[in-house]
Amino acid sequence: MAREVPVRSAAYYSREGEGVRCRLCPNSCLLMSGQAGLCRVRECRDGELVTRSYGNVSSIALDPIEKKPLYHFYPGSTILSLGSFGCNLRCRYCQNWQISQRVEEAHILTPQSAAEIAQGYQKERCIGVAFTYNEPTIWYEFIWDAAEHIKAAGMVSVLVTNGYMSPKPWRELLARIDAVNVDIKGWRGEFYGKMCGGMLQPVLDNVETAGDLCHIELTYLLIPGHNDDDDSIRGFVRWVREQLGRNTPVHFSRYFPNYNLDIDPTPISTMERARLLAQEWLDFVYLGNVNIAGAADTYCAKCRSLLIQRSTVYNPRIIADSGRCPACGEEVPWIFQ
Ligand code: SF4
Repeated sequence: MAREVPVRSAAYYSREGEGVRCRLCPNSCLLMSGQAGLCRVRECRDGELVTRSYGNVSSIALDPIEKKPLYHFYPGSTILSLGSFGCNLRCRYCQNWQISQRVEEAHILTPQSAAEIAQGYQKERCIGVAFTYNEPTIWYEFIWDAAEHIKAAGMVSVLVTNGYMSPKPWRELLARIDAVNVDIKGWRGEFYGKMCGGMLQPVLDNVETAGDLCHIELTYLLIPGHNDDDDSIRGFVRWVREQLGRNTPVHFSRYFPNYNLDIDPTPISTMERARLLAQEWLDFVYLGNVNIAGAADTYCAKCRSLLIQRSTVYNPRIIADSGRCPACGEEVPWIFQ
């Protein structure tokens, strides 16, 4: 039977009249006693902001790092993946709505035990812990504490996130994080508002900050008729090149119907078009959720020799295991064990 989730004092809020204003994410919820924020896990109790998700784990698995996806960060390794409940966005097509749109008490972990479980998998090439599945922003206090134990154990911490966090907590948390994959949901502000209940600009600002603080890769889910037009794709990849550099890995992912959006999956031709457009601006463009030969492989930016072959996300064949292209000697921009 699940234990009760310990209620903890939450970070980043201020008192306003009888209530509190949460300042963790751009939603800036103003909450009166007994009310929970849009994320469902932060709540006003007796004039204080508390979190009801500290250590509450909905999902736990040992995943290949490629599944996050992170293709340029310890390729071929595994990572303990932990998720909780709730989300601070409301994407109509959410792929994890079973845990993002509800909250319940599941399995309680301490920050120390998260690090210890990861250590127990070192024989399986486990490098640390990824906070993923639901949105890690709203698991802030637990991740903050766990990251310290993970670092002390000589392992790494990873966020798979929507990047929808206020600038100060984002900067402070990333000082403890080794890599992030940020989900860019679309390139128009209108898309973020209508489809996700959020704003684009805070995410872009955070991505720029992250580029200076840790390893970063980006994911863009292509949704037919909503964010897959040439102008959106071009605008996105041009911005990535200008702000982060042309060697930033970008993953275009294929949409399948889920939750409250029931349209056909992304055509393969759209995936291929996105890749072609992006390759004009970026060196490392990948396609996910598709079965296209070579779509997940890494090629040398200079001579186009094959560096890593990923037939599946499991056991990639690493050819450039010295960190340089064996054919031309070009240095490969990734982090290796
Ligand atoms: S973290 Fe939750 S409570 Fe805080 S502002 Fe964002 S949605 Fe609202």
